[in-house]
Amino acid sequence: MATSSFTKKTLGVEANDSGKARSADSGQPAFPKKPKITPSKAKRREIPEGLWTKCPKCSLMLYDKELDENLKVCKQCSHHFPIGARERIHSLVETCSFEEMDAEMTSVDALKFTGASSYASKLDAYRKNTSLKDAVITGIGKINSIRVALGVMDFQFLGGSMGSVVGEKLTRLIETGTAKELPVVIISCSGGARMYEGMLSLMQMAKTCAALAYHGRSRLPFISVLTHPTTAGVMASFATIGDLIIAEPAAMIGFAGPRVIKDTTQSELPPGFQTAEFLRDRGLIDAIVSRKEMKGRLTSYLEFMTEGRTARHA
Ligand SMILES: [Zn+2]
Repeated sequence: MATSSFTKKTLGVEANDSGKARSADSGQPAFPKKPKITPSKAKRREIPEGLWTKCPKCSLMLYDKELDENLKVCKQCSHHFPIGARERIHSLVETCSFEEMDAEMTSVDALKFTGASSYASKLDAYRKNTSLKDAVITGIGKINSIRVALGVMDFQFLGGSMGSVVGEKLTRLIETGTAKELPVVIISCSGGARMYEGMLSLMQMAKTCAALAYHGRSRLPFISVLTHPTTAGVMASFATIGDLIIAEPAAMIGFAGPRVIKDTTQSELPPGFQTAEFLRDRGLIDAIVSRKEMKGRLTSYLEFMTEGRTARHA
């Protein structure tokens, strides 16, 4: 026991030293700092779990706090880690400007679906573990000075799948956008339709698209932002009918999985198939925007797309 705690302590000190040495390279010598590390300080730093994350792309160890401050983007290779819906909303809208809609709406197990475990028990578990009610958060907020109807999906809740609640919340958001003459921005992240709800989940594809058609008829813009991964039923409905479709770098975007396509077409898939970059080069996506630039770019796009309208109403 004693040996293991000693090892941990040593590791803690080493981590601390290397962290400091980088920033203080040009200034004071590192040597006098060493005695300042008291055993209690070293002990506080000995908890490695949940403190560091290894970048899957470049293998750099990233300090979690720093990673959060950087909007979950690797500082070395710009790999975009998954980000929760609430964090994303926080990164986009002005503080305290977001009024959430239908926050208490929850899914019901209409088909009494049972598989390895029942849909009802899955819903319960995900609600507890993610502190989300379902896979999307919607509301009205301000991105810089522009009021928008904003919907953000969260992959943590049942793979961001679209069931009746996701479809209904998005539809209400779009309809509110139409009624209040606001642009709609939806940030997608989804494995597709929620199969536990069968046909009911597929109907959400038509419902969201119909609401967007009415929104479009009012000459209001809809910006669709695709993040890793956006696939299947979501990709086959509202996510691909944006007036402007943008994506985060290297996001996986597609309808069916690569294996299914390969088996069906009996041909080799080209390199980079189903990535945001591949689709941009072939005209399916208008632009690739890194998460750190997202707020600024959305602001310019929205300003451009609503310019005439603002003038007419002024
Ligand atoms: Zn990296």
